[in-house]
Amino acid sequence: MNEYPRLTVDLPKLRHNVRKVVSRCKANNMDVAGVIKGCNGLIPCARAFAEEGCDFLASSRMEQLEAVKKEGITVPLMLVRIPMISELSRLVETVDISLQSEKRVLEALEGECVKQGKKHRVILMADLGDLREGFWDRNQLIQTALAVESFSHVHLAGVGTNLGCYGSIAPTVEKLEELVDCARNVEEAIGRKLDYISGGATSSFPRLLEDNMPEGINHLRIGELILEAKDLEELWGYDLSSFYQNVFTLEAEVLEKKEKPSHPVGEVMFDAFGHRPTYEDIGVHTRALVAMGKMDYAYLDGLSPVDRGIRVLGASSDHTILDVTRAHHPVEVGSTVKFHLNYGAVLFLTNSPNVKIRYREE
Ligand SMILES: *Cc1c(COP(=O)(O)O)cnc(C)c1O
Repeated sequence: MNEYPRLTVDLPKLRHNVRKVVSRCKANNMDVAGVIKGCNGLIPCARAFAEEGCDFLASSRMEQLEAVKKEGITVPLMLVRIPMISELSRLVETVDISLQSEKRVLEALEGECVKQGKKHRVILMADLGDLREGFWDRNQLIQTALAVESFSHVHLAGVGTNLGCYGSIAPTVEKLEELVDCARNVEEAIGRKLDYISGGATSSFPRLLEDNMPEGINHLRIGELILEAKDLEELWGYDLSSFYQNVFTLEAEVLEKKEKPSHPVGEVMFDAFGHRPTYEDIGVHTRALVAMGKMDYAYLDGLSPVDRGIRVLGASSDHTILDVTRAHHPVEVGSTVKFHLNYGAVLFLTNSPNVKIRYREE
């Protein structure tokens, strides 16, 4: 069996990142849901999230949560995508707490809980402008909260929001204060305190870094910051040097190495994906072809060669083309080239049956 492309997961580095996030949240009296969907719920990763102190393991995909439960990991499980009505029986069976935004789904969920004789907790989502999931109308959210409060098996645990994923809206102090305000309205209506005000994902973590998390937010759902720790630094300029940014490393084998022109020769048509790219002419140089492609990682911009002298030129489904003219380390046919990865690359690579996943344990 061929060993490449090989994705190595450095578990001690991952554990370090989990501890960093958990300790920062705990210092602010906040609970953490560790979101494992970015690595397709890989079990050794899920175990690291759980063992290093996450209060919940969370995913958008039921399959990943079911796998975690099957492995005997006992941390409460959270579904962070609004459930399909057609998956409610699996939800009640496996998951402890879910995010919700539809009264019809909540009614069906109560019915399913009664049927299975099980309890389930829910967090009602408020859409504060990002325009993905959640109640747009605050009154409707409050009325739904009152309805859930009358249920016998579904328990209203809190309210939450998600920002940044679709509408690119920043979780500013003002937006999160709006969420707290919304939660206070719900508490007045139901006559008791909520357990959770869930203030978002990695993109809300800057409120902790800047020490301006609004009072009342006591829960975050964190994935990217633990798995990659790149977004907040690259997009917002925060210093994440205390996190490891290379938990995941990809290694691919060189198939061919030749001197070739850099501009294609002949009449330019369309590439393998129907696009008509432009090609920079930098003269004859040394090109290496490695055995992996867009079928494995989908987006080329998610790969950064560890050897800073290597440039990624392009890719088709099964080949990635590199300029190795200025490589600092020798690149030969049969040798391998290593890459650092971003969130999107890891998302696809961990879901590719062609990629061999290895774990560094210590
Ligand atoms: C994916 C997701 C998260 C985690 O997002 P990160 O950016 O990886 O921290 C949190 N909440 C919801 C609703 C999500 O879908």
